[in-house]
Amino acid sequence: MADFDYDIGIIGGGAAGLTVAAGASRLGAKTLLVEKEKELGGDCLHFGCVPSKTLIKSAKVYHLLKHADRYGLPAMQVPPVDFNQISARIRSVIGVIQKHDSEERFCGLGAKVEFGNPEFSDEHSIRLNGSTVSAKTWVIATGSSAAVPPINGLDRTPFITNREIFYLDRLPASMIILGAGPIGAEMSQAFARLGTQVTVVDLGQQILPKEDRDFADAVQKTLEAEGVRFHLNSTIEEVSDLGHAREVRIHTAERTEVRLTAETLLVALGRKANVEGLGLDRIGVEFDRRGVKVDARQRTRRKHIFAAGDVTGGFQFTHAAGYQGGIVVSNAVFHLPRRASYTWLPWCTYTDPPLASIGMNEKAAKAAGIGYDLWTEDFHGNDRSLAEGEDTGKIKMLLDKKEKPIGVQILGPQAGDLLAEWVAVLNGKVKLATLAAAIHPYPTLGEINKRVAGNFFSEKIFSDRVRKGLKFIFQFKGRACTLAE
Ligand SMILES: Cc1cc2nc3c(=O)[nH]c(=O)nc-3n(C[C@H](O)[C@H](O)[C@H](O)COP(=O)(O)OP(=O)(O)OC[C@H]3O[C@@H](n4cnc5c(N)ncnc54)[C@H](O)[C@@H]3O)c2cc1C
Repeated sequence: MADFDYDIGIIGGGAAGLTVAAGASRLGAKTLLVEKEKELGGDCLHFGCVPSKTLIKSAKVYHLLKHADRYGLPAMQVPPVDFNQISARIRSVIGVIQKHDSEERFCGLGAKVEFGNPEFSDEHSIRLNGSTVSAKTWVIATGSSAAVPPINGLDRTPFITNREIFYLDRLPASMIILGAGPIGAEMSQAFARLGTQVTVVDLGQQILPKEDRDFADAVQKTLEAEGVRFHLNSTIEEVSDLGHAREVRIHTAERTEVRLTAETLLVALGRKANVEGLGLDRIGVEFDRRGVKVDARQRTRRKHIFAAGDVTGGFQFTHAAGYQGGIVVSNAVFHLPRRASYTWLPWCTYTDPPLASIGMNEKAAKAAGIGYDLWTEDFHGNDRSLAEGEDTGKIKMLLDKKEKPIGVQILGPQAGDLLAEWVAVLNGKVKLATLAAAIHPYPTLGEINKRVAGNFFSEKIFSDRVRKGLKFIFQFKGRACTLAE
């Protein structure tokens, strides 16, 4: 049997790679983790989830200060934002989390961390920093980067992506964001709240294209009310550098030409898999524009080479990358054939209010030809929402024709956290009746979960039929009061 340097080698130290490295090394596999940047943590820690959510919080606090009078407080004149201070806070939050994702921690778990640019020399070996290193099993977990489509003039115009946006040395006075997906939506609101004049351009007819139209439109309306301008249904014809500003020439939905100018141009037009330079062609690992092709067990065409996370081009979330990392550990270390399933994969876009989803939304159910009944509950009817001054939005619960939940979407305060109860209910196959009967603390936002389930039962319980039955059995006398017309 061939003797390899390592049992398992992992390329990429982000959410997926770190999950595999931690799992494999703790289970006693001799593990190598190779990262091309100077630190572990990946996009989520350095250029994605962590800096974006930290920025979003700063923007929210600033927004609340500016609108203190809405909470019965004295109206305030708030000084302008110093973006360096926000960047410093972002760096400090990252610094705390970085310790958890450090070389020392992984060494403590038993994994060797190497920094450099690896390239496969054969299907078991990589060239790294002038040496050849072999492993019995490999995992490609190199993530994704901002896609930069071939827009006329973009190659000659300065622009930023998620790699630069959290580390600007000052707040841009104005910003054009190309792309109205989750990153574009989150950043448009955060920067508008901080004082940047933001314009978003997208080819699509709605923002957040995966979401139901009514919820996406509600988010758009909130962003517009906060000053974000949208040009949807618009094609980007050309981008140019005016020296002091960037210009974007678009054709709008009405087929008119509009020239937009702004100090900063953010490209948020989707992601591309990080596959360049790895030598995947050489070792017969299949990939296309979207990413490395894997089966449900995260195996590439070469069965001892796995791939996980954004590089596989599927659901591009940190929790999806972590989940796939776990599937790799089961298959590659335990040798237990475990398959990925995305039926109950949740996600959340962290606008304010945020929009969270698990299972099928109406759009997905219609596309799949699945009949459903819709149950809703407004945040306006939730006492805690009113107390918080955050009563926009609602919860939608989709039941199939057998009255089983197939999906839940929440647009409202703390939507991502509220979804956690549904994660447990749906994965644990908990009966809706159990959720509806379970005592929830008052006053909490979480009561909305119980209420929407309760709505389904109350229609059955408080029906004419039940009323008539009880009247017949117990001789009830009926209404004691009737409102005047
Ligand atoms: C602005 C923004 C906000 C986001 N917000 C959220 C959010 O709120 N929630 C959420 O779930 N997801 C969010 N995401 C998505 C999330 O960041 C990714 O899904 C997640 O990072 C994917 O993990 P990964 O391990 O696949 O890739 P990464 O975390 O990117 O890790 C890949 C690692 O591989 C390294 N690498 C790349 N090429 C090589 C190479 N050739 N050799 C060696 N190493 C290499 C990279 O340097 C990196 O460290 C956000 C993304 C962005 C851009």
